[in-house]
Amino acid sequence: MTQLIEQLNSIVGKAAVITDPQEVTPYATDWRKRYFSMPLAVVKPASTAEVAAVVKLCAATRTAIVPQGGNTGLCGGATPLAAEDAGRFVSSGAQIVLKLSRLNRVRAVDPVSNTITVEAGCVLAKLQQAAAAAGRLFPLSLAAEGSCEIGGNLSTNAGGTAVLRYGNARDLVLGLEVVLPDGQIWDGLRGLRKDNTGYDLKQLFVGAEGTLGIITAAVLKLFPRARAKATALVALESPARALELLSHLQGACGDRLTGFELMSAFCLSLVAKHYPATRLPFTQVHPQYVLLELSDTASAENLDATLQEALAKAAERSLVLDAAVAANEAQAAALWALRENIPEAQVHEGQQIKHDISVPISRIAEYIAVTDAELERAFPGVRMVTFGHLGDGNLHYNIAPPAGADEGAFMARASEVSRVVHDSVARFSGSISAEHGLGQYKRDEILRYKSPLEMELMRRIKAALDPRGIMNPGKVL
Ligand code: FAD
Ligand code: ZN
Repeated sequence: MTQLIEQLNSIVGKAAVITDPQEVTPYATDWRKRYFSMPLAVVKPASTAEVAAVVKLCAATRTAIVPQGGNTGLCGGATPLAAEDAGRFVSSGAQIVLKLSRLNRVRAVDPVSNTITVEAGCVLAKLQQAAAAAGRLFPLSLAAEGSCEIGGNLSTNAGGTAVLRYGNARDLVLGLEVVLPDGQIWDGLRGLRKDNTGYDLKQLFVGAEGTLGIITAAVLKLFPRARAKATALVALESPARALELLSHLQGACGDRLTGFELMSAFCLSLVAKHYPATRLPFTQVHPQYVLLELSDTASAENLDATLQEALAKAAERSLVLDAAVAANEAQAAALWALRENIPEAQVHEGQQIKHDISVPISRIAEYIAVTDAELERAFPGVRMVTFGHLGDGNLHYNIAPPAGADEGAFMARASEVSRVVHDSVARFSGSISAEHGLGQYKRDEILRYKSPLEMELMRRIKAALDPRGIMNPGKVL
């Protein structure tokens, strides 16, 4: 092992190989602090060539590589396997964390092609800023954007709050540079909008959670910057009404509708409880709320009027109970804070059993009604913390213990609770992970829901690209 460390030192320099347990600990712990396991070392290459040399060494020594970007992933994908799992999945038993954060250059911006070429370790917020500096928009946006990195975003096919208009990370990528599991560098950095020359290889690596290779750089799509935004909080009777409102707004506003986030009254009550400065724009509590956003790249003038008119029509059809349109940027930010503070408010409230599910958009209200009722029957008094990207059919469908219940006893039943949630998802032809991926958290759970044929095809792809099984073993598969 000391020989391996010395060889790593000679590739990336001694300062870029961390072995001191105290220094390694943050890299060995996942965001939710659910997984912790020490790797042999944390290795921080600064170039694609260094990544390739490290991978060649790991291939030769059968050392498992755990790629890590910002380490904000929520399913234990970016941290090493525990010893007993490592014994099962890693032939040598040795794992390193490969931290990509030093590969953080913006290589090129092309405002005519509307593309930006960046390295994997570029923090998402920095990438957004680089696009803005060129007068363009990079639309991927999520609450972890100050620390997650584009390599991690692509590897988890991240979603976020603008999927409704711009799609997932998968829809934003035109080309990739990837270090393959044998150390070869695949230069697929083509910024082409059209290319029909066979299999779309880059898409294999998107959402692969580091199990097929290491993304070192990407060519991404840019869009015109919005000149105007209009933001509103709308109160409604039910998720079914929210779906009707979505349809109505898409008809009235077209693709200017860029955000449509559902939040239950209970979610906002948690935000108000744990962020005492919170002010809701309504005097009365309503069952459900939608935060919606319109963006326009052309004229600023008509956007507010379009929104007001669309909401007035929605009120005539009794779709909305009340609505508050932000009058300025500060008010818009305050409305977005209601949505963005939900995850942190949940943390303050205590432990919850979390799910990031999707079902066909048109069935989401029915899913909530049916599954809420099933959970109430099986676990009386549970408190549903349901919010999320209704416009994408994707919910953060989280479940808090009954008020006053023993948290530990409730959490011990997490797999029973998740079984109800996920079996219901399956009946609705949905997905048990719409955003966060499988990692090690849902590696075994997925076997119940994906067909044996689909699992077999995934295993064949894995075996073809990574026959030694060194790329993030024990994750996804
Ligand atoms: P990491 O956590 O470091 O890694 C994630 C996975 O990708 C791991 O399997 C890792 O091995 C692999 N990986 C990382 N870099 C590379 C690379 N260069 N090559 C190959 N494999 C690699 N997700 C959403 O989709 N939508 C949201 O709205 C959203 N909101 C979030 C809010 C918060 C507060 C937090 C903490 C997380 C949120 N997430 C969300 C989770 C989301 O997956 C991550 O934020 C992000 O996409 C992961 O990026 P990262 O750089 O932190 O990746
Ligand atoms: Zn989300």
